[in-house]
Amino acid sequence: MATKQIIEKDKRQKDDLIVIGGAGGFIGGALARHFHDQGFSRIRAVDKKPLPEWYQRVPGVECLTMDLSQETNCRRACEGAVEVYNLAADMGGMGFIERFRVECLRSILINTHLIEAAYRAGARRYFFSSSACAYNTLLQQDPNVRALKESDAYPAMAERGYGWEKLMSEMFCQEYWAERGLKTAIARFHNVYGPWGTWDGGREKAPAAICRKVIAAKETGEQTISIWGDGHQTRSFMYIADCVKGIDMIMHCDELIATPINLGSSELVSINELVSKVEKIAGIKLKREYDLGAPRGVGGRNSDNTFIQQVLKWEPNTPLDTGLRATYRWIKEQYEARKKGHRVVE
Ligand code: NAD
Repeated sequence: MATKQIIEKDKRQKDDLIVIGGAGGFIGGALARHFHDQGFSRIRAVDKKPLPEWYQRVPGVECLTMDLSQETNCRRACEGAVEVYNLAADMGGMGFIERFRVECLRSILINTHLIEAAYRAGARRYFFSSSACAYNTLLQQDPNVRALKESDAYPAMAERGYGWEKLMSEMFCQEYWAERGLKTAIARFHNVYGPWGTWDGGREKAPAAICRKVIAAKETGEQTISIWGDGHQTRSFMYIADCVKGIDMIMHCDELIATPINLGSSELVSINELVSKVEKIAGIKLKREYDLGAPRGVGGRNSDNTFIQQVLKWEPNTPLDTGLRATYRWIKEQYEARKKGHRVVE
């Protein structure tokens, strides 16, 4: 009986208040849409960006423009919250995180205040978006990398700045559960891509950047594409729909409380292969120029999905070719819209 009561108390209601930090961005925006589409009626989306700059505005969702690195704002954001999702961070692709380490480190303020506010508000569950950048970089120098499993974060040698912030914030989540009983979930995302993601301006990741460059080359008739590094570096890329599905599953799995888990695709490609895939979609072949001075990140990185398969009987599984086609189409629309002077996601 007691167990049944606990389970029922913990069961989600469609009018539970869900708070999403960073909802003006790529993944937070997609998550707000996901819960809205699932029929949740009380979603509070929070981001520091002015509303017109949010990537997605979901009908019926309460939108607040607030800086979550401030404690008082976190308390306001979490008032009445049943679940809190932290997708807010100052971040971007390699070009951004290698250059702006202080900004990346300062994201620790967001998680520090948001988790405390969630706890004080009596929230039932708290989600933190960690990253594969939390893994030991010494294990990722070779493009023929062995996929990273969860235990590879320690001994710690995370990506400077961004990766260390993620590791420390993970620890907050683990200790809030251990000491205070707040149910926390920690997913280590591996590169996420898809429609409604940053595609220009310096914060975009490789798939979006390559789609944009190929579209521009086609448009201008230029026959070349500039590639960061030698193109041999390898990565895996997870489609946004898999990402939001995974967040939802991880957050609501009791076996995973306070336990970091990979959320990424295990389909490994080199950047050169990624370019070939986009060229194929665009129906063009470009001359490749390699910019060896540009930021390239680690030599190789892939997600070992043994643990997620074992616990959730699922892993991100949208084929890269499928996700890239949808992403290319969307970026092309954005590109055309920008040419006409319309406001776009950047
Ligand atoms: P994004 O940049 O599109 O979204 C992050 C949002 O957080 C932005 O809209 C930004 O304005 C907001 N934000 C930043 N500082 C804030 C503050 N002080 N207060 C309120 N809002 C603030 O990034 P994303 O791709 O959606 O990433 C979401 C989360 O997932 C981040 O924690 C990121 O580190 C993590 N992550 C993303 C990827 C990826 O490939 N996209 C990979 C690994 C981890």
